[in-house]
Amino acid sequence: MIQDDPKFYDISENIKTIRENIKKASLKFSGDENAVRFMAVTKTVDPKYINHAFSCGIDLMGENKVQEFLLKEEQLNLNGIEKHLIGHLQSNKVRKIITHVDMIQSVDSVSLAQEIDRQAEKNNMTADVLIELNVGGEESKTGMDKSAFKENFYKIAEMKNIRIKGLMTIPPICEKTSELRTFFEEMYKLFIDIGSKKSDNVSMDILSMGMSHDYEEAILCGANLVRVGSAIFGPRIYK
Ligand SMILES: *Cc1c(COP(=O)(O)O)cnc(C)c1O
Repeated sequence: MIQDDPKFYDISENIKTIRENIKKASLKFSGDENAVRFMAVTKTVDPKYINHAFSCGIDLMGENKVQEFLLKEEQLNLNGIEKHLIGHLQSNKVRKIITHVDMIQSVDSVSLAQEIDRQAEKNNMTADVLIELNVGGEESKTGMDKSAFKENFYKIAEMKNIRIKGLMTIPPICEKTSELRTFFEEMYKLFIDIGSKKSDNVSMDILSMGMSHDYEEAILCGANLVRVGSAIFGPRIYK
Protein backbone atom coordinates (compact mmCIF):
# COMPACT_ATOMS: atom_id res chain seq x y z
CA MET A 1 0.00 0.00 0.00
CA ILE A 2 1.22 3.45 -0.94
CA GLN A 3 0.08 4.85 2.43
CA ASP A 4 2.20 2.40 4.43
CA ASP A 5 5.47 3.12 2.70
CA PRO A 6 6.87 6.62 3.32
CA LYS A 7 9.14 6.25 0.33
CA PHE A 8 6.25 6.90 -2.06
CA TYR A 9 5.67 10.26 -0.41
CA ASP A 10 9.38 11.12 -0.46
CA ILE A 11 9.60 10.36 -4.16
CA SER A 12 6.64 12.65 -4.94
CA GLU A 13 8.13 15.47 -2.87
CA ASN A 14 11.60 15.03 -4.34
CA ILE A 15 10.23 15.18 -7.87
CA LYS A 16 8.32 18.38 -7.08
CA THR A 17 11.38 20.04 -5.58
CA ILE A 18 13.70 19.02 -8.40
CA ARG A 19 11.18 20.13 -11.01
CA GLU A 20 11.03 23.58 -9.37
CA ASN A 21 14.81 23.80 -9.24
CA ILE A 22 15.06 22.80 -12.90
CA LYS A 23 12.53 25.46 -13.87
CA LYS A 24 14.37 28.17 -11.96
CA ALA A 25 17.73 27.31 -13.47
CA SER A 26 16.25 27.02 -16.98
CA LEU A 27 14.57 30.36 -16.68
CA LYS A 28 17.85 31.89 -15.62
CA PHE A 29 19.82 30.33 -18.45
CA SER A 30 17.47 30.63 -21.42
CA GLY A 31 14.36 32.48 -20.29
CA ASP A 32 12.35 29.32 -21.00
CA GLU A 33 11.39 27.35 -17.90
CA ASN A 34 10.42 24.34 -20.01
CA ALA A 35 13.63 24.05 -21.99
CA VAL A 36 15.15 21.25 -19.93
CA ARG A 37 14.07 17.61 -19.85
CA PHE A 38 14.07 15.81 -16.53
CA MET A 39 15.16 12.17 -16.67
CA ALA A 40 14.67 9.77 -13.78
CA VAL A 41 17.64 7.42 -13.54
CA THR A 42 16.24 4.14 -12.32
CA LYS A 43 19.16 1.76 -11.88
CA THR A 44 18.76 -0.50 -8.81
CA VAL A 45 15.29 1.02 -8.15
CA ASP A 46 12.33 -1.30 -7.56
CA PRO A 47 9.73 -1.08 -10.37
CA LYS A 48 6.98 -0.07 -7.92
CA TYR A 49 8.88 3.13 -7.13
CA ILE A 50 9.65 3.77 -10.78
CA ASN A 51 5.95 3.42 -11.63
CA HIS A 52 5.19 5.86 -8.85
CA ALA A 53 7.62 8.36 -10.37
CA PHE A 54 5.76 7.96 -13.68
CA SER A 55 2.49 8.71 -11.90
CA CYS A 56 4.13 11.92 -10.62
CA GLY A 57 4.68 13.04 -14.21
CA ILE A 58 8.10 11.63 -15.04
CA ASP A 59 8.06 10.76 -18.76
CA LEU A 60 11.71 9.95 -19.37
CA MET A 61 13.71 7.17 -17.76
CA GLY A 62 17.34 6.10 -17.98
CA GLU A 63 18.76 2.67 -17.21
CA ASN A 64 22.41 1.70 -17.16
CA LYS A 65 22.35 -2.00 -17.86
CA VAL A 66 20.74 -3.98 -20.65
CA GLN A 67 19.96 -6.99 -18.49
CA GLU A 68 18.49 -4.98 -15.64
CA PHE A 69 16.25 -3.00 -17.97
CA LEU A 70 14.97 -6.08 -19.77
CA LEU A 71 14.19 -7.78 -16.45
CA LYS A 72 12.23 -4.81 -15.14
CA GLU A 73 10.55 -3.84 -18.38
CA GLU A 74 7.45 -6.01 -18.00
CA GLN A 75 6.73 -4.61 -14.57
CA LEU A 76 6.84 -0.99 -15.70
CA ASN A 77 3.91 1.12 -16.91
CA LEU A 78 5.77 2.36 -19.94
CA ASN A 79 2.87 3.87 -21.82
CA GLY A 80 4.00 7.31 -22.97
CA ILE A 81 7.40 6.92 -21.32
CA GLU A 82 10.61 7.53 -23.25
CA LYS A 83 13.41 5.09 -22.39
CA HIS A 84 17.11 5.78 -22.76
CA LEU A 85 20.11 3.58 -22.17
CA ILE A 86 22.72 5.68 -20.36
CA GLY A 87 25.30 3.14 -19.16
CA HIS A 88 28.29 1.64 -20.93
CA LEU A 89 27.10 -0.68 -23.70
CA GLN A 90 29.02 -3.67 -25.00
CA SER A 91 28.69 -4.29 -28.71
CA ASN A 92 27.44 -7.84 -28.21
CA LYS A 93 24.41 -6.55 -26.29
CA VAL A 94 23.23 -4.01 -28.86
CA ARG A 95 21.08 -6.60 -30.58
CA LYS A 96 19.16 -7.29 -27.35
CA ILE A 97 18.37 -3.70 -26.49
CA ILE A 98 18.06 -1.73 -29.69
CA THR A 99 14.32 -2.15 -30.23
CA HIS A 100 13.55 -1.66 -26.53
CA VAL A 101 14.87 1.88 -26.07
CA ASP A 102 14.24 5.23 -27.72
CA MET A 103 17.81 6.42 -27.44
CA ILE A 104 21.29 5.20 -26.58
CA GLN A 105 23.11 8.02 -24.79
CA SER A 106 26.36 6.18 -24.25
CA VAL A 107 27.97 5.77 -27.67
CA ASP A 108 31.65 5.91 -26.87
CA SER A 109 33.42 4.25 -29.82
CA VAL A 110 33.23 3.84 -33.57
CA SER A 111 32.97 0.07 -33.22
CA LEU A 112 29.94 0.35 -30.94
CA ALA A 113 28.36 2.80 -33.39
CA GLN A 114 29.02 0.35 -36.24
CA GLU A 115 27.20 -2.39 -34.38
CA ILE A 116 24.27 -0.07 -33.60
CA ASP A 117 24.17 0.91 -37.28
CA ARG A 118 24.16 -2.75 -38.32
CA GLN A 119 21.43 -3.77 -35.88
CA ALA A 120 19.33 -0.71 -36.72
CA GLU A 121 19.45 -1.66 -40.39
CA LYS A 122 18.38 -5.22 -39.57
CA ASN A 123 15.39 -3.86 -37.65
CA ASN A 124 14.45 -1.34 -40.32
CA MET A 125 14.90 1.57 -37.98
CA THR A 126 17.05 4.60 -37.38
CA ALA A 127 18.78 4.57 -34.01
CA ASP A 128 18.88 7.85 -32.12
CA VAL A 129 22.11 8.23 -30.18
CA LEU A 130 24.16 10.67 -28.16
CA ILE A 131 27.92 10.64 -28.26
CA GLU A 132 29.42 10.28 -24.80
CA LEU A 133 32.46 12.37 -24.01
CA ASN A 134 34.95 11.85 -21.23
CA VAL A 135 35.37 15.59 -20.87
CA GLY A 136 37.80 15.36 -17.97
CA GLY A 137 39.99 12.78 -19.71
CA GLU A 138 39.78 10.46 -16.71
CA GLU A 139 41.12 6.93 -17.09
CA SER A 140 38.38 5.45 -14.94
CA LYS A 141 35.56 6.84 -17.06
CA THR A 142 33.91 5.72 -20.25
CA GLY A 143 33.27 8.13 -23.10
CA MET A 144 35.54 9.44 -25.84
CA ASP A 145 38.26 11.80 -24.85
CA LYS A 146 38.37 15.03 -26.81
CA SER A 147 40.92 13.95 -29.40
CA ALA A 148 39.11 10.67 -30.12
CA PHE A 149 35.88 12.61 -30.37
CA LYS A 150 37.25 14.91 -33.08
CA GLU A 151 38.44 11.90 -35.04
CA ASN A 152 35.33 9.75 -34.57
CA PHE A 153 32.42 12.13 -34.73
CA TYR A 154 32.14 12.46 -38.49
CA LYS A 155 32.79 8.75 -39.02
CA ILE A 156 29.71 8.03 -36.93
CA ALA A 157 27.78 10.83 -38.60
CA GLU A 158 28.21 9.01 -41.92
CA MET A 159 26.47 5.86 -40.71
CA LYS A 160 23.13 5.63 -42.49
CA ASN A 161 21.03 4.05 -39.77
CA ILE A 162 22.15 6.29 -36.95
CA ARG A 163 21.00 9.78 -36.10
CA ILE A 164 23.24 11.72 -33.73
CA LYS A 165 20.98 13.80 -31.52
CA GLY A 166 23.56 15.37 -29.25
CA LEU A 167 26.18 14.86 -26.58
CA MET A 168 26.35 13.32 -23.13
CA THR A 169 28.93 13.52 -20.38
CA ILE A 170 29.73 12.81 -16.74
CA PRO A 171 32.31 15.38 -15.63
CA PRO A 172 35.00 14.65 -13.04
CA ILE A 173 34.13 15.17 -9.39
CA CYS A 174 35.25 18.70 -8.62
CA GLU A 175 35.64 20.38 -5.28
CA LYS A 176 35.15 23.82 -6.72
CA THR A 177 32.07 24.85 -8.67
CA SER A 178 34.26 27.01 -10.89
CA GLU A 179 36.20 23.93 -11.94
CA LEU A 180 33.02 21.96 -12.61
CA ARG A 181 31.72 24.83 -14.70
CA THR A 182 34.75 24.74 -17.00
CA PHE A 183 33.85 21.15 -17.96
CA PHE A 184 30.17 21.92 -18.49
CA GLU A 185 31.02 25.05 -20.46
CA GLU A 186 33.45 23.15 -22.65
CA MET A 187 30.68 20.68 -23.47
CA TYR A 188 28.27 23.47 -24.27
CA LYS A 189 30.77 25.08 -26.60
CA LEU A 190 31.29 21.80 -28.48
CA PHE A 191 27.53 21.30 -28.65
CA ILE A 192 27.02 24.76 -30.16
CA ASP A 193 30.01 24.50 -32.53
CA ILE A 194 28.92 21.16 -34.00
CA GLY A 195 25.29 22.25 -34.10
CA SER A 196 26.22 25.19 -36.30
CA LYS A 197 27.62 22.87 -38.98
CA LYS A 198 25.07 21.18 -41.18
CA SER A 199 25.25 17.43 -41.54
CA ASP A 200 22.55 14.99 -42.70
CA ASN A 201 22.48 12.54 -39.83
CA VAL A 202 23.24 15.04 -37.09
CA SER A 203 20.84 17.26 -35.22
CA MET A 204 22.39 18.70 -32.12
CA ASP A 205 19.26 18.90 -29.99
CA ILE A 206 20.29 17.33 -26.72
CA LEU A 207 23.04 18.19 -24.28
CA SER A 208 22.75 15.57 -21.54
CA MET A 209 24.70 16.49 -18.41
CA GLY A 210 24.05 17.10 -14.74
CA MET A 211 23.11 14.53 -12.07
CA SER A 212 21.72 14.67 -8.52
CA HIS A 213 24.50 16.84 -7.08
CA ASP A 214 25.10 19.18 -10.00
CA TYR A 215 22.03 19.37 -12.27
CA GLU A 216 21.38 23.04 -11.51
CA GLU A 217 24.96 24.00 -12.32
CA ALA A 218 24.75 21.97 -15.55
CA ILE A 219 21.58 23.78 -16.62
CA LEU A 220 23.18 27.14 -15.90
CA CYS A 221 25.94 26.09 -18.32
CA GLY A 222 23.58 24.94 -21.10
CA ALA A 223 22.44 21.37 -20.36
CA ASN A 224 18.94 20.65 -21.66
CA LEU A 225 18.57 17.10 -20.34
CA VAL A 226 19.50 16.24 -16.75
CA ARG A 227 19.79 12.69 -15.41
CA VAL A 228 18.74 12.45 -11.79
CA GLY A 229 18.72 9.27 -9.71
CA SER A 230 19.45 9.39 -5.99
CA ALA A 231 17.91 12.84 -5.46
CA ILE A 232 14.58 11.26 -6.48
CA PHE A 233 14.80 7.72 -5.13
CA GLY A 234 17.30 8.04 -2.28
CA PRO A 235 20.70 6.34 -2.04
CA ARG A 236 21.15 3.32 -4.27
CA ILE A 237 21.45 -0.12 -2.74
CA TYR A 238 23.54 -2.40 -4.91
CA LYS A 239 22.83 -6.10 -4.51
C1 LIG B 1 23.68 6.72 -12.03
C2 LIG B 1 23.77 7.69 -13.14
C3 LIG B 1 23.14 8.96 -13.07
C4 LIG B 1 22.39 9.45 -11.86
O1 LIG B 1 23.22 9.60 -10.75
P1 LIG B 1 22.70 10.33 -9.41
O2 LIG B 1 23.92 10.92 -8.84
O3 LIG B 1 22.10 9.27 -8.57
O4 LIG B 1 21.71 11.35 -9.83
C5 LIG B 1 23.24 9.78 -14.19
N1 LIG B 1 23.90 9.41 -15.29
C6 LIG B 1 24.51 8.22 -15.40
C7 LIG B 1 25.21 7.89 -16.66
C8 LIG B 1 24.48 7.34 -14.33
O5 LIG B 1 25.10 6.16 -14.45
